[in-house]
Amino acid sequence: MKLFMALCCFAALSVKAQDYINPMDIPVVLSASYAELRANHFHGGLDISTPHIGVPVKSVADGYVSRIKVSPYGYGYGLYINHYDGHTTVYGHLSEYAPKIDSVIRKEQFRLKSFDVDYFPEEGAIPVSKGEVIAYSGNSGGSLGPHLHFEVRDTKTEVPLNPLGFLANKVADHKAPTVYGIKAYSLDDTSSVDEKYYELKSIENKTINAYGHVGFGVNAVDFFDVGGRPCGVVEISLYDNEILMYQSRLESISFDDTRYINSFVDYAEVQRTNRYIQKSFIDPNNKLNIYKVSKPIIIKDGELHRMRYELKDFTGNVRKVNFTVKGVKDGDYEPVIRRGTRVSWEHDNVLCSLKVVIDIPAGNFYKDEYLEIVREDSNVFKRPLYTIGSKEIPVHGNIGLTLPVPDDLKQKLADSSLKPRQVFIARTGKKNSLGYVGGTFDGENITAKPRYLGNFLIAVDTIPPRVVTKNTATLLSQSNNVMVGISDNFSGIEKYNVYIDGEWKIFEYDYKNARLISQVKKLGIKSGTHTLVAKIEDACGNLTEWEWKFRVK
Ligand SMILES: [Zn+2]
Repeated sequence: MKLFMALCCFAALSVKAQDYINPMDIPVVLSASYAELRANHFHGGLDISTPHIGVPVKSVADGYVSRIKVSPYGYGYGLYINHYDGHTTVYGHLSEYAPKIDSVIRKEQFRLKSFDVDYFPEEGAIPVSKGEVIAYSGNSGGSLGPHLHFEVRDTKTEVPLNPLGFLANKVADHKAPTVYGIKAYSLDDTSSVDEKYYELKSIENKTINAYGHVGFGVNAVDFFDVGGRPCGVVEISLYDNEILMYQSRLESISFDDTRYINSFVDYAEVQRTNRYIQKSFIDPNNKLNIYKVSKPIIIKDGELHRMRYELKDFTGNVRKVNFTVKGVKDGDYEPVIRRGTRVSWEHDNVLCSLKVVIDIPAGNFYKDEYLEIVREDSNVFKRPLYTIGSKEIPVHGNIGLTLPVPDDLKQKLADSSLKPRQVFIARTGKKNSLGYVGGTFDGENITAKPRYLGNFLIAVDTIPPRVVTKNTATLLSQSNNVMVGISDNFSGIEKYNVYIDGEWKIFEYDYKNARLISQVKKLGIKSGTHTLVAKIEDACGNLTEWEWKFRVK
């Protein structure tokens, strides 16, 4: 059934590949490929390296601007163009739009008094032709270095496809994928295997002992001829004594499904070691349409199974890795230790213990999991710390998490020395760092809706954001930038507004450099003295109002 559905999906999406020009007049060097494995998603497009920001970006075919999305995060300055062949191309992390697009989006930003806008121009209102400069490359949003994020989507379904199938200029790739290692898994209570990771060099001459229903996973990447960053493998096949037991192909993953990556990879291994092991078996609640073949691998006592992985990149280069599995019923296996209550992925579950309530709607786990709620009095945080299952268990959607508010905080909330928004659920991270989760107070408890498990506690934030000037001089020319440094100690910047002489102005929030920035000439102000007021609010409603005077030449 699963296979049949997958084939249907591909048929519906099968589109005629056509030639688009390169989006930039520089050789296509990739720093990331389509469907590359990322935290909580498959990469939706190609990352094309640029030597610096400001490389002209061209529309790859005739069409019209269908969406302009500006955000401090994600694609930063993003641009969407609909073409007449049923595809949409997306350009992300831009530094600037072409003037005719810029004027439209600035008008919208002023209308909403917001830097952050998501605007859908009317069909055909902003036409563009093949090769027309539509924007300039950048490093905006969640980008860690100058590059262009480029996507090709099916316009109707919005499903991103592999852009390599559309570009006329092929990206040279003569290198087969690289395999780092393989991991073995026991898949039910009666099977056993040494559930561990084998580096490639140790696997090829080794025999893995196993018994019963087992599975395997592979840690592999792919490189193109040019560009040293590891990219993603497209197709994975696993053979058992020459019979194809498993095959997956990453070619059209919708945004609705992209979070199922946490079931495609060994999520616990990612959390623990940052290794992305691609599992060659399917969790019961994995809805990805990538699986072509999936048969159970059963190892009986005394049998010898010659296994072979075949990994293929988009160009078709293949890497093969052979290993041997021997059926041993009563081997010297590491026992699997499970603690806590078994939670079914198929049903709604509510767990209550230690005044903690966890509400897990059906479908939020990929398979049945074991959960335990543990409370400890933390010396570091001076408050009870709750361990809810483990951060190594993936969660698909939002779960309800209710924690009791300690009495001292309840008292302060009752006498209004704390506002409800200032008290919230936080999670612990590396080196005892705390991350804001949020939640609402009902008089006794706080309930939040995280999409992860781990360590949580009730925390307080009463400290407003810090605002400073990042300008070294107060006398500025029209080509200078006005820069306001903003940072927050805990819950994070939620609202930012800058007024000059009482009028709201568009300032870009560049969170990586912790600043709001605008060129003087884009502010439309004349020579003379001006008063800037910044109003910055964190997620708990703590507000800073800051004033600064500067002069323009
Ligand atoms: Zn990207």
